Amino acid sequence: MQVYKVGGAVRDRLLGLPVTDIDRVVVGATTEEMLAQGFRPVGADFPVFLHPKTGEEYALARTERKSGRGYGGFTFYASPEVTLEEDLVRRDLTINAMAEDDQQNLTDPYHGQRDLEARILRHVSPAFAEDPLRVLRVARFAARYAGLGFTVAPETVELMRQLSASGELQALTAERSWKEISRALMEDQPQVFIQVLRDCGALNVLMPEVDALFGVPQPETHHPEIDTGLHTLSVLQQAALHKQPLTVRWACLLHDLGKGLTPQEEWPRHIAHEHSGLKLIKAVNERFKAPKDCQELALLVGHYHTHGHRALELKASTLLELLQSFDVYRRPQRFEEFIAACEMDARGRKGLEQRSYPQADYLRGAATAARGVAVQPLLEKGFTGPALGEALKRERLKVLKAYKDAATA
Ligand code: ATP
Ligand code: MG
Repeated sequence: MQVYKVGGAVRDRLLGLPVTDIDRVVVGATTEEMLAQGFRPVGADFPVFLHPKTGEEYALARTERKSGRGYGGFTFYASPEVTLEEDLVRRDLTINAMAEDDQQNLTDPYHGQRDLEARILRHVSPAFAEDPLRVLRVARFAARYAGLGFTVAPETVELMRQLSASGELQALTAERSWKEISRALMEDQPQVFIQVLRDCGALNVLMPEVDALFGVPQPETHHPEIDTGLHTLSVLQQAALHKQPLTVRWACLLHDLGKGLTPQEEWPRHIAHEHSGLKLIKAVNERFKAPKDCQELALLVGHYHTHGHRALELKASTLLELLQSFDVYRRPQRFEEFIAACEMDARGRKGLEQRSYPQADYLRGAATAARGVAVQPLLEKGFTGPALGEALKRERLKVLKAYKDAATA
């Protein structure tokens, strides 16, 4: 049997990037031989094994044939006769379809190295169209390598466009899609992921609520970039530049969905878009079964981001309601993430990227002040049950009034 490194390990070594996860393919072996050598089988679907000592992944060379709709609709054929070239041709991109042996001899039948040098993401064969997840994968690699100058080959964009129009994207499970989306959002240029999906018509299928933001104007005084879709891309870009976590990036992507619902005669204003957007945010959250913390923050940011921007003008009672809505007493981290998302929203405007955002410290200070109200003295005064809650609120309001007066004096 022969063992080759494949996929990301070869690609990233040739790009001079650090290699973290190594995928290997085994040619000329049977499952029985692998088991006899102590490899542990993983996954019911694929002939994939873990090395007995290193725990790294070894997959038997295989061919694939599409036999139905969606990912379940695949048949695999692994046998010692399957050649390295046959295994590589089923892979998504030419730069991912190179193999090397332990002497670093390259096998590159589909010219991945040439595309690597030309900075092109190109599909290996027409079989690309057999798995719609590849549309998301290409967009994710575009987001990851945009900084190196990579773009998607026009003929690959065309295939992605056909796949998007075919209805195949709907067959993807929430779990597979979310895995790609969440990884793509954590890349350095997540806005490229959304842009590439949009260019091939996939965004309109996967997240029509986000696609609808393009072409929707906002008032130029607040938003020099005008277009709501472009604004959303800039907010995502800022979130990546500021190394924000996934929760914040997800909330940034969805914060303005309500603007896509504004009747044209009201443009460029978007009255109450915070409220109209909530049902759309909920729908996108549920479509991809986003993790609970992502779902929650997206809804809160959608609802309250304009409160964040107007923080210094809010009445003390409104400020208190905001803090209560976030339960800042028990969930301080979530409020921090809200503040971060608001700041990214403000910075995601053309020409205003560097402008300071004093609302952030003001909101932090307000949360600290409200949190500083102690329960003990109220208990000692004999408050219990709902009356205690009311007394706490009164005290917090007092403290916030003083805070506001001092901070805005
Ligand atoms: P990463 O750095 O994200 O791990 P990778 O290229 O190693 O990138 P993996 O998801 O680990 O990506 O997959 C390893 C290899 O398997 C890929 O390089 C590609 O050749 C192939 N591959 C994985 N998923 C698919 C798919 N859905 N369709 C075609 N080929 C795929
Ligand atoms: Mg990998």
